[in-house]
Amino acid sequence: MFLSQLRRQVLEANLELVRRGLVLYTFGNASGISRKESLVVIKPSGVPYEEMKPEHLVITDLDGKIVEGKLKPSSDLPTHLVLYKAFPEIGGVSHTHSEYATAWAQARQPIPCFGTTHADYFHGPVPVTETMTQTEITSKYEENTGYVISRLFAQSDYMAVPAVLVANHGAFAWGPDPATATHNAVVLEAVARMAYFTLSINHEAESIGRHLHDKHYLRKHGSAAYYGQPKDKI
Ligand SMILES: [Zn+2]
Repeated sequence: MFLSQLRRQVLEANLELVRRGLVLYTFGNASGISRKESLVVIKPSGVPYEEMKPEHLVITDLDGKIVEGKLKPSSDLPTHLVLYKAFPEIGGVSHTHSEYATAWAQARQPIPCFGTTHADYFHGPVPVTETMTQTEITSKYEENTGYVISRLFAQSDYMAVPAVLVANHGAFAWGPDPATATHNAVVLEAVARMAYFTLSINHEAESIGRHLHDKHYLRKHGSAAYYGQPKDKI
């Protein structure tokens, strides 16, 4: 079987979405890319998670042509492909309709950074896309979903804010590998939930100050990061 290790990683990233309560039935999908081979491994369409095996996953090229796999890929494959082409540093994408993140997407509101949990993962608010036009919806809808996301990040660092809300739809998260993409989707849901409660308690709550936001983000990311253990010690 081709790309067996990546298949296992992508399967695990999909199952983690279920374990964390981010998906209902067959909603949601995670994928991973081998940059060396320019091949994407993605969840098949409509297969129940509890029956999913590595061999059910589908391998395609960056044009969506199936390279290995008997099943149809997730219908959101074109969105994933646009993201892999637009964001060259990412290695995994995770998509969910998780409840709180989707509530923000439906309200078409970015998630403000109210605290350090958010600041640890997202260096700024989690943005929301523009609504899609009728043409974008009627033709190549899934591909155009990728373009509304990539347009939003044209002027900002997609690795510093590794998630987005698609207006009236749901969330996409990404990372250097499939496990991190799913991890970011899980944290996004927690952050969306906390932000909702924060505003319920005080509808005039203010975003975290820049100093505390930078402190938390930069102690985990970038050249001056010091959080956790050095890689060579573990
Ligand atoms: Zn969706």
